[in-house]
This record gives sequence, structure tokens and C-alpha cells, in this order.
Amino acid sequence: MKTSIATVSISGELPDKLAAIAAAGFDGVEIFENDFLAFDGSPTDVGSMVRDHGLEITLFQPFRDFEGMPEPLRSRTFDRAERKFDIMQQLGTDLVLVCSNVSPASLGGIDRAAADFHELGERAAKRGLKVGYEALAWGRHINDHRDAWEIVRRADHANIGIILDSFHSLSRKIDINSIRSIPKDKIFIVQLADAPLIDMDLLYWSRHFRNMPGEGDLPVTEFTAAIAATGYDGYLSLEIFNDQFRGGSPKAIAADGRRSLIYLGDQVRRIPEVEALSVTEMPERAAVKGIGFVEFSADEKDAADLAAILRTLGFRRTAQHRSKQVSLFEQGDIRLLLNTDEGGFANASFAVHGTTAYAMAFVVDDAVKAFSRAIALGAEPFMQSVAEGEVEIPAIRGVGGGLIYLIDDRGDLGRFAEIDFQPITDDTGVEPTHLRFIDHLAQTVAYDEMLTWLLFYTAIFEAHKTPMVDIIDPAGVVRSQVVENATGSLRVTLNGAENRRTLAGHFIAEKFGSGVQHLAFHTDDIFATVLALKANGFRPLPISPNYYGDVEARFGLDPDLTERLKAHDILYDRDEHGEYFQLYSTSFGEGFFFEIVQRSGYRGYGAANAIFRIAGLKKALRPEGVPRA
Ligand code: MG
Ligand code: MG
Repeated sequence: MKTSIATVSISGELPDKLAAIAAAGFDGVEIFENDFLAFDGSPTDVGSMVRDHGLEITLFQPFRDFEGMPEPLRSRTFDRAERKFDIMQQLGTDLVLVCSNVSPASLGGIDRAAADFHELGERAAKRGLKVGYEALAWGRHINDHRDAWEIVRRADHANIGIILDSFHSLSRKIDINSIRSIPKDKIFIVQLADAPLIDMDLLYWSRHFRNMPGEGDLPVTEFTAAIAATGYDGYLSLEIFNDQFRGGSPKAIAADGRRSLIYLGDQVRRIPEVEALSVTEMPERAAVKGIGFVEFSADEKDAADLAAILRTLGFRRTAQHRSKQVSLFEQGDIRLLLNTDEGGFANASFAVHGTTAYAMAFVVDDAVKAFSRAIALGAEPFMQSVAEGEVEIPAIRGVGGGLIYLIDDRGDLGRFAEIDFQPITDDTGVEPTHLRFIDHLAQTVAYDEMLTWLLFYTAIFEAHKTPMVDIIDPAGVVRSQVVENATGSLRVTLNGAENRRTLAGHFIAEKFGSGVQHLAFHTDDIFATVLALKANGFRPLPISPNYYGDVEARFGLDPDLTERLKAHDILYDRDEHGEYFQLYSTSFGEGFFFEIVQRSGYRGYGAANAIFRIAGLKKALRPEGVPRA
């Protein structure tokens, strides 16, 4: 599978774009005319710059409003075409994209268009060039690839072919199986884009909201499977118009694009009876069975404070690392590590971000396979030397540069805690609070990184993303989207902060980057848990008393239940599947907190309650401009 991307998909000046595209591992690039016009060099210079990066120019585009014009406009469009051909020859590319005519002057008529293309084919052939015709979803007479194909078929010229673009076909819900009858040698290139499902004007939707395959909601995999069925094995080229990408980091967007295509190729390869695209083979997506541990990096002072909070939450220190300053705290199936080691990555992370949950472990069936899939999808591996006899755990870099360790129950990896840690039995003054496992883990990221991490998680691990939910912070909106699996053993909520005055934004600003902002533990009985917590000296986050009158009325709660919720600062929510009880800790440091939930069938995360939690947490925050104590 050869991969390409249109220059328009990425931000920056043409040289920055090309450098990012080459670094991400693409084989080719579509030169978008405006990128070329805005650049000071000649077409020949652009061509050599592209080739110096080891890239091929796959396509020059767009050539607009060509077919079906009356005279004298018709003659002029042919003159314009000859000038494009001049540029193409100087650039060193042989394919141009003609998109279907949108001009009110165009006459329509399938044979008129076919005749125009036949003549254009004759002119292109003289120069050894080819022309691909693409149906724009909003074309004046041609807005369906089936009609575009009929024109190409009737044009009957070796130098005229069709260009298929997933957005134009899928946005109009055209039957994708119609692609299967097109001969592969007449498909000159395939352009791919996904998009979130939004009901809006097609042109506006296409120009502003396209995103990488797998980042949106369109069936791009089925589209690509239909392409593969023709036997086509040419370039798959991303053509993404997205306002956010145009303002983003060229390197990150290019890397996301390349990952999206590798992931797409892998998904298509797994569809039975599809004629395989020649794609990299890799293990299937890793099923996550649970969160094996979460590790905090801290200095001695913060570590003592955090350990005190963990004890009020009912965690006991059960083991100490044999060679590093790392303590293990446990309760139920929850393992938390507290790392104050002066060397290594944890310390480096602390130096930049302060006390954070900088690492977590996903329990998978086969850590080696999960790791090799992650690497095949462009994840950055993490290596750290371990002492003799200790277990080396495979890891990749995740959100905010933090770590995701991959563990399984095979061999030494399954026993790393016994091998690397020395048991401690003297931490007995703490009563357990019936916490059983990690229900979810919330990561806060800059809004423009949301799609990156959604793609990262869903490409590597067996998980899906839920629709985006707006969380109302008194200072602005935080967008929240969840990566979860069918069994609920993996639940990561991603919160995208747009401004630093929101609690999420404050967290990112103060932590110098994205990271884990809260950890939610599951209990089967929140009332038993809250009593045990209070006996340990834990103080829940105070919730406004006004909340309870509202929640009682909204859900028709028994007043006795409302009173008990209110007495313990417990929040309540319900959906068609069941009930949800939540309580929070106050924040630790710059906005990190713990949550305790009781979930009985309920599928959400208490989004409607977030505003009350945020208001409570914000009261306790250090005001801006006041130095740390
Ligand atoms: Mg296109
Ligand atoms: Mg939560």
C-alpha cells in the first residue's frame, strides 16, 4: 500500500509541510495549487524539493469548472488546461485532478462532458500526462461517482480515468458497492477522508470538518474494501480540509495521517473475502482486560501528602521496590505506585510536570503482540534500563509523553510485582473502604489533541469512541469523549480544554501539558464506602446543597435517599440502563482528584453533574498569580 497526503491537509509553509510529510513516512504528496502559488520558488524548484525529501508527486490539483462549457468559455478552459499541463511538466508529475463543474454556465449533458474529456485526453497524451475526473458532492450536474464513471467510460481514452474520494461518495450515502464494477486501471488515484456526522451544507462540511480515516463517523473502511475489491493497489491519498489541522502542528498531523492509513489498511485486510491491499501485517487490536497499575511521580514532600490521601482512601502500602524508591499501595484489584526515585524517567517527568500520574499499565492477553502492533502504528517505544534480575516491561509513550506499560500474565511479566518488589506488612492502621477496581481514568488534553489520542487508543486497542459530550465549566466548555471497550474493562475519558480558565485548562497550563486528571474507583456500595472513608479521615468534596433539591425533582427520588446523598456529598445520575453514584476528593496540587463511583448498568460518566464538581473543586484552587505555598 502506497500512502500519500495532500499538502492542503497540513499547516505551515510548503517546506515545513513537505518535511513533516516525509518524516511521517509517506511515499507521495498531492500538490495543492494554492500551496504552490504561495511559495516563491518555480515549479521546477518545488519538484526538486519534493524529490529531495524522497517523495513522489502523486497528483496536481485542482482544475475546476472544465467540462460541459459553451463557447467561448469552452475554448478558454482548454487554454487553462494547457497552462496547467505546463506546470505539471515542470513539477514532474503526470496526473491532474479535474473536479466536476460547479459553474452556473455549464450545460450538463453526459456526452458533451465525455467529448470534452476525450479531447482533453488527446492533449494530455501528447505530453505523456493523465487526467482524473472526480465527482464533487456539490457538482452542478455531476455529483455522484457513478455518473463521473459513466463520463470517463464514454470518453474512452487511455489518458482519462476516475478519481474516487471517500468524502464525496459517503457524504451523499451513495452505494459504495457500485465502485466494485470499475476496472482498476481506470481508477487513477483514491482520496480518503473521514468526517464527523453533522447535518450541514455539504460544501461547508467538506471544507472545514474532514478528518483522518478512523477519526470521524463515515464508513471509510467499507469504502476502501470496495476499492480493494477492484484489485486497485495504487496510492491511498489523504485529502483533509480541517480548520483545526490547518492551525495544528505539521508534524503531529502528518503522523496522525500516516497512522490512520496504516490502521485503515489493517482493518480492510481483516474483512473476509476482500482482495487484500498489500499492507503491513500486525497482530490484531489488543483487548484490555483492566488497568494493572497507575504510577505517580512525586518528590518526598508531595509523596508523603499523596500517601496520606491514599491511606484515607483505604489503600495500604504493601510492598517496596527492591532497587528503586517506589512504593506499592493496594486495595481490591487496584494497584497504585508512588515513585520518588531520583533517577530515571519518573524523576524527569516530575521535573517537568510536577506530581502526576505519569504512567499506567494496561493488562492485555499478550504484551509482546500489543507492543508490536503499537509500534507498527507509529507509537513511540519507551525503554529504561532495569537492574539485574528485574522485569523489563514493554511500554509506549502516551498522552502528554506519559507511559503506557503493557503487561500480561505470562512468565516473569505476570509476576513483576513479586519479582521487583519486597512485601511490607506493617501498614495496618488503615481500614479498607471496599474499593474494587479502577472504573475509569480521565486524561485532560488540549482540545486540538483530542483526535490524535482517540485515534491512538482505538487503533492500537480493542475499543470504540463514544460521541462527544460538552462539559460545562463556569469558565467555558470542555469537550469530553470516551474511549471504552464493550466489557467496561477499559474506560478512558478524554477531556479537551480550549481555554486555561476552565478547570481542565488550568490543569494543563500548570502541569505543562496533558495528563491524567482523575482516577475513579469502583465500589459496590457507595454508602458503606463513604462511612469507611470518613472513619479513615477522608473528606469528600463539598457539593452545593442546592444540587439535591434539583436532583430529587429531576429523578423523582425518595426524599430519604436525597437526604443520605446530601449528608455525604454524593452525586446521582441515571440513564435507561441503570444508576450512578459519585463522590469526589478535594483536589491534590493543581487540579488532580480522585473519584469513587457505584455503577449499576449505567453507561455514562456523570456529565450532567460535572458542573457541580467543577464548581466545588474551583473553590479550593489556588487563585491565579498567587505563588505556591
Ligand atoms: Mg478530492
Ligand atoms: Mg469521572
